[in-house]
Amino acid sequence: MTGALTAEQTQAQKEFRAFADHHIAPHADTWHREQRTPPEIVRLLADEGLLGLPIARQYGGGGCDAVTLGLLAGELGRACSSVRSLLTVHTMVAHAIERWGSRAQKETWLPRLARGETIAAFAVSEPDAGSDASGVTTRITRDGDDWRIDGHKRWTTYGRTAGLFLVLGRTAQGPTALLVERDTPGLRTEPIDDLIGIRASMTADVHLEDCRVPGGNLLARPGLGVSHVVGAALDLGRYTVGWGCVGILDACLEAAVDYAGRRRQFGSLIKEHQLVRRMISDMYTDARAARLLCLEAGRLRDARDPGALAATSTAKYFAATAAGRAAANAVQIHGANGCGPDYPVQRYLGDSRVMEIIEGSAQLHQVGLAEYAFQDHAPRSHR
Ligand SMILES: Cc1cc2nc3c(=O)[nH]c(=O)nc-3n(C[C@H](O)[C@H](O)[C@H](O)COP(=O)(O)OP(=O)(O)OC[C@H]3O[C@@H](n4cnc5c(N)ncnc54)[C@H](O)[C@@H]3O)c2cc1C
Repeated sequence: MTGALTAEQTQAQKEFRAFADHHIAPHADTWHREQRTPPEIVRLLADEGLLGLPIARQYGGGGCDAVTLGLLAGELGRACSSVRSLLTVHTMVAHAIERWGSRAQKETWLPRLARGETIAAFAVSEPDAGSDASGVTTRITRDGDDWRIDGHKRWTTYGRTAGLFLVLGRTAQGPTALLVERDTPGLRTEPIDDLIGIRASMTADVHLEDCRVPGGNLLARPGLGVSHVVGAALDLGRYTVGWGCVGILDACLEAAVDYAGRRRQFGSLIKEHQLVRRMISDMYTDARAARLLCLEAGRLRDARDPGALAATSTAKYFAATAAGRAAANAVQIHGANGCGPDYPVQRYLGDSRVMEIIEGSAQLHQVGLAEYAFQDHAPRSHR
């Protein structure tokens, strides 16, 4: 598999793995139990330049290619899906600003995001708006030169600690995106605890009451919030979540192989039992297939190929559902130990559930991917 990467990408992956193995993986279960990401690890990721890796060099970022970003998401995902989620939401907002921000917004925010001095969060979902982001009801109204925002955003990953929020609301023109700083009067966050997965991801409700931001905080034109801003961010989010799921698959496989090679029942190691071998074979196949799909998506993104959108959606859908299967099998192979707190597979199971819901649920991909199939495989006479 590494033969499919350039020498630089292979080296980068080695460094990402060493970093994650040393600084993240040994603590992930504790963070999961304590439901928090320590600020020190966020600082370390920032100091290593990892949070700004895909941001353009002119703004102080690493300017890395899509494949390298994917490799980073994969290695973080193998160690801790909460930390990988930090990379995902932070880079989604940075990408939206790079793609749709004004010159002033880029110059103000991108250097801070590249240095990880400010953490960014993506506040789109609401109590009554999930898969259908265009249904948001947060009100955005003009008040002199300012925008006034009133509404309730829910499930904001790292909402507890983020310094900058990309908020989706509604103006008379339709869904509209604004950048809102944490210390803006009228913005208040409230922790959401006891999640099934990514429990260390500092998820929060964001309440906005008579919250006013300058006119210059508008991201793209009013009405383009979903079609342009959220669309661009979600496409990148799907990509890094897909890779994060490759990481979950790797972690499940490693845990299952290790356990099956040590646990004895009926006089032999359980890895000798055929039905256990079958589960491991399925995980192995899924892990390889998910990695190849994510790599293909990365290469198409780097080539600016229009097929990247479909490839990214396919990769995320496959990798998330495969991570769900692998985590369920990893727990099964661990038996009762898989249900307790002493092995990480319980964490992988909860994390993989979340992966099938965020960045387009499995069902939304199932509905949407057929459209690409109809386009790509239409009989000549229908084109
Ligand atoms: C841990 C966690 C972190 C999150 N972080 C963020 C974040 O940082 N920012 C943010 O904005 N949001 C975040 N979310 C919210 C996430 O984006 C939504 O959960 C997701 O969009 C799905 O919306 P929903 O949960 O409201 O489900 P709904 O949209 O209500 O869907 C419920 C069910 O109906 C199915 N369904 C819906 N529409 C269709 C359809 N057209 N066809 C077939 N089936 C359909 C879905 O697949 C799902 O099974 C997070 C969620 C979780 C759990």
